[in-house]
Amino acid sequence: MKTIGLIGGMSWESTAEYYRIINDDVRKRVGGLRSAKIVLYSVDFGEVEQLQRHEDWGGLAGLVVDAAQRVERAGADVMLICTNTMHNVADDVQNSIQIPLLHIVDVTAEKILCDGYQKVCLFGTKFTMEKEFYKGRLQNKGLDVVVPSPIVRDVVHRIIYDELCVGKILPSSRSWMKRIIEGFAEKNTFAFILGCTELPLLIQQKDFDASKYVIKVYDTTKIHAEAAVDYALSRE
Ligand code: GLU
Repeated sequence: MKTIGLIGGMSWESTAEYYRIINDDVRKRVGGLRSAKIVLYSVDFGEVEQLQRHEDWGGLAGLVVDAAQRVERAGADVMLICTNTMHNVADDVQNSIQIPLLHIVDVTAEKILCDGYQKVCLFGTKFTMEKEFYKGRLQNKGLDVVVPSPIVRDVVHRIIYDELCVGKILPSSRSWMKRIIEGFAEKNTFAFILGCTELPLLIQQKDFDASKYVIKVYDTTKIHAEAAVDYALSRE
């Protein structure tokens, strides 16, 4: 089994999910007492958020590259950046290490295309919903991407930073998010990317009534974590 490298802490609420999903998946696939080989470097999200607020992408690249190099030196065979937003510096990371970076957009797009969807609605931080690094990469894979209106984007962004990243899972935010997604489904968009690793803490596929709506939710945390297990186990 190969060693999975995780750059986490963005936020730790979702990194804990990566750790749980990866180990759970290894247990399901190989059984017994087997568990994943993982090297995790967890950053201080307070520092990251300050740099994001000032759109200091150079500073953010430096911080994530430093973390990646530590993880590689500690023996990882494959690298994951455990956040969608920070894939804005994915190229800097890949260029600074020798091991492959498993890109969250690539594994997510692969799954959506495999299911036969062409059009997706993307939810995440404002950086993820508005910048080209995410939408552009999905479009290059052949997907049509829609994003919510500016007002909705503001609310989703606020829910991520002010609630989910500090461990608050509020039923009122879940109901609001559910209504937004159902509104898209009523207008014929059926596939939804939870393009923020904390969003699945708030809402999941099971929150939608399958007899009422055709809604397919793509949980990027789970997809990314399970792709890491595929990589680690296919190279035993
Ligand atoms: N974890 C989140 C994401 O997937 C947001 C936190 C961050 O800015 O990294 O985008």
